[in-house]
Amino acid sequence: MPLAFECRQPGLAALTFDDGPSSHFATVLDTLNTHAAPATFFVLGEHLENPTKVELLNQAVMAGHQIENHGWNHARFSTLTNAELVEQVVSTAAIILDRLGIGTRFVRPPHGDIQIEQGIPIWDLGYGIALWNGDPADYSQRPPDAIVRDIDAAVGQSDATTDSFIVLLHDSSPTSATKLGEIITIFRSHGYTLVTYDNCVDAGVE
Ligand SMILES: [Zn+2]
Repeated sequence: MPLAFECRQPGLAALTFDDGPSSHFATVLDTLNTHAAPATFFVLGEHLENPTKVELLNQAVMAGHQIENHGWNHARFSTLTNAELVEQVVSTAAIILDRLGIGTRFVRPPHGDIQIEQGIPIWDLGYGIALWNGDPADYSQRPPDAIVRDIDAAVGQSDATTDSFIVLLHDSSPTSATKLGEIITIFRSHGYTLVTYDNCVDAGVE
């Protein structure tokens, strides 16, 4: 799976949270667990130098969520040399393995900033590139209610027998802190099964 924007089977939805663990991580984790909703966290390597954040991520791993690679410090990949790009990915994978004991398969480029030139060294390392097809812009200054309304409209217009979602969210956003339960309910009430990124892009693969 070199590059994924959507799941391999319709009816699946992967909620993904980038840049963490940050301010509302514990709340997000609690909400996910309360709803038995799996999710995937694309984390920054530098955050794993903080033992408190490692502990939070360990709780996420124990609860069955997936941890993946968002680079070391949110550098824009298009501004880096290939050696710097490889270092972003490899150092983050190494600290995730060291602190959490888990391997990673996917890299999500910060800001989605990736072209074929940056893809090649990442594929050469054996990673897939994890993009998305749903971006409710929860990082914007818009009120959480408006963001949730947009998600409801997009999911309402979709068809779970033909469509799937990979949703870009951030655990730092007020929407994640206050509205995640509603977002989970929106997807489920329209017939979607929430899955981790692995299960989204591996669905149906023998
Ligand atoms: Zn990011």
